[in-house]
Order: sequence, then C-alpha cells, then structure tokens
Amino acid sequence: MGEFELIQNYFAAGAAPAKGVVLGIGDDCALLEPSSAGQVLAVSIDTLVEGRHFLPGTPPEHLATRMLGAAVSDLAAMGATPAGFTLALTLPKADPSWLEPFSQALAQRARELEIPLIGGDTTAGPLTLTAQVQGWVDPQQVLTRNGAQVGDLVCVSGTLGDSHAGLRLQLEPEQGARLDGAERDYLQQRFYCPQPRLKLGQTLLGWASAAIDVSDGLLADLGHILGRSGVGAQVELTQLPLSAPLKAMAGAEALQWAASGGEDFELCFTLPKRFAGELPRLAERAGINLAIIGEIVAEEELKVFEQQREVMPAQAGFDHFGGAQ
Ligand code: ADP
Ligand code: MG
Repeated sequence: MGEFELIQNYFAAGAAPAKGVVLGIGDDCALLEPSSAGQVLAVSIDTLVEGRHFLPGTPPEHLATRMLGAAVSDLAAMGATPAGFTLALTLPKADPSWLEPFSQALAQRARELEIPLIGGDTTAGPLTLTAQVQGWVDPQQVLTRNGAQVGDLVCVSGTLGDSHAGLRLQLEPEQGARLDGAERDYLQQRFYCPQPRLKLGQTLLGWASAAIDVSDGLLADLGHILGRSGVGAQVELTQLPLSAPLKAMAGAEALQWAASGGEDFELCFTLPKRFAGELPRLAERAGINLAIIGEIVAEEELKVFEQQREVMPAQAGFDHFGGAQ
C-alpha cells in the first residue's frame, strides 16, 4: 500500500463536509473560515511516542481516543470551539490491522467532539502520533493562564485521579482486585478516552479569570496558573472531588492520586469571588460538577492543606524531564 492509497483509504474517505472547512484533505493546505468576525485561531499540538507515552502493543483505538481527547482538551482549556485538526503519523509499516481500528476510532471520536480531520502527513519510522488541533475563540474573552487575581476561588471540574487509577490498572491489573467490573471499566475509560471539557470552557468565557486543563496533575497545573499570574494559592485537599471507583481502588491514597495524578483532562480555573453564587448555574449549563478547592493569595507559593493542616505532597506532578515542576 502506497502513501497515497493509505491516506485515501483510511483518512480521506471518512472525512465528511464540515462547517467552517472550506477545503479539507487532498490539497497542499486545508482552508478554514472563522464562524464569526473578530475571532482568533487557537492552535495546539500534542505528540505520543511509542515506548515513551504508551506501551508497545497498546490497542490502536485507545491511542486514537487518548491522542484526540488530550489534544482537544487544550482547546477546551482556552474556551475555544473546535475548527479542525491535522494528524502527523509516523508508522513502522502500513499495517491494515493497525490502521483500520485506529482510523475508525479516530473518525468516531472526531465526530463526537465535532472536530473534523482536515489534513496531515504520513511518514515511515518508529510509531509516533501527532495531532494539531485548531479552534476559534473571542480574543476578548479567551481563557489564559495569566489572569488569576488575589481572592479568586480555585475550582476544578469532574473528579480527579481517575486517569491515574486507570493507568495503574493497565500496568498492574491485580491492583484492581477490590473493584467490580463497572468500576474497573469506568477508571480504564477515564484513562483511554479522556473527555475534553469543551462545553465547560465555552461556558466559563466571561466568568473565569484563568484556566488550564489538568494534564500533568492538579498541583503541577495549578502551579502553571500561579506562575503565569504572579500569585500563590492555598488548596484544601479534602475538597478535591473523588469518584467512588477511585476511592474503592486507592483507599488512603485517593487524595494523593487526585492531587498529583496526570491526564484527567478536567479544567482547573479561577473564579472571581463575586461570581461564587453563579457556580451551580455554570455547572448546570456545562453539564459537569464543579468544586471549589482553594483560593488565590498574594504570597507567590502553593500551600496545600489537609483538614487545615499544611502538608507536603510527595510529588507535585509528573514532569517529562524529572524536575520538580
Ligand atoms: P504534501 O506533499 O503537499 O505535503 P501529502 O502528499 O503529504 O501532501 O498529503 C496529501 C494530502 O493528504 C494533504 O491534503 C494532506 O493534508 C493529507 N494527509 C496526509 N497524511 C494524512 C493523514 N495521516 N491524515 C489526514 N490527512 C493526511
Ligand atoms: Mg504540498
């Protein structure tokens, strides 16, 4: 199978006409049209390398759903509306038994997230997947990391730590001995098929002062907001939202996993205190529960408390180069 045939069979064929896509796969560039005047393009790229970000032999459909979920989560964190994505694929060989499930899972996930595949690049080499996502957002309202103000509430969506639990289940299934089938499925899904909080990001436009998606771990990612905003925060660990399956699996370590586990792809955001009363309405509109876990303070430090007693979490989060943050 040649490169042209591969693209045609697995990627171009599934691409349906999509809103805002003037020209999709097949020419030298794709062409996108903003849905309203004055919007700016939000662009982000993510790479998964075999042996580094996933184990050899990982099912291709899991790679597709993880890659696209993680990439689109960056659009969610800025409050952007998806426009399209490109895919750079480096494959050891053109293997239909890999390409078929990968491309099908990718196309289905792309439909669900309403983000069309608009182009890409295909090369031979060690298995590497790169997705570049693009979305439209109003530059006056866009959610960035640098807007947190002293007194703002620190909030998170959904539940934390589930993806870390799902990863552990994959590496050591016996750790899930206490879980029933539904609990195990839930945690594994949270790892394999992250749900970018697109609706929440868009709902927070005009309300939140700063936002980030939780990819490295809550404390590490909150640290990025603090660094960029030039402020500090106090966080109460007992306020972190935990799922029942996580509690069943992690026991006494549940808060630790929620504070430091990566890849939950929930949103962590800061909200001016005068909007605190809006939180239930924002949660309802976005279709996800929202929890207040702390407050922004002037002293440029992240302090973590457990039942009001200051604690030192063992690790603040995952870092690719092994540094503290
Ligand atoms: P060029 O050489 O001009 O960069 P290519 O031959 O690499 O073009 O690609 C031909 C068309 O197929 C382009 O529109 C490109 O965006 C698209 N394409 C290539 N690889 C992929 C892929 N893995 N997924 C989706 N579209 C792809
Ligand atoms: Mg060209």
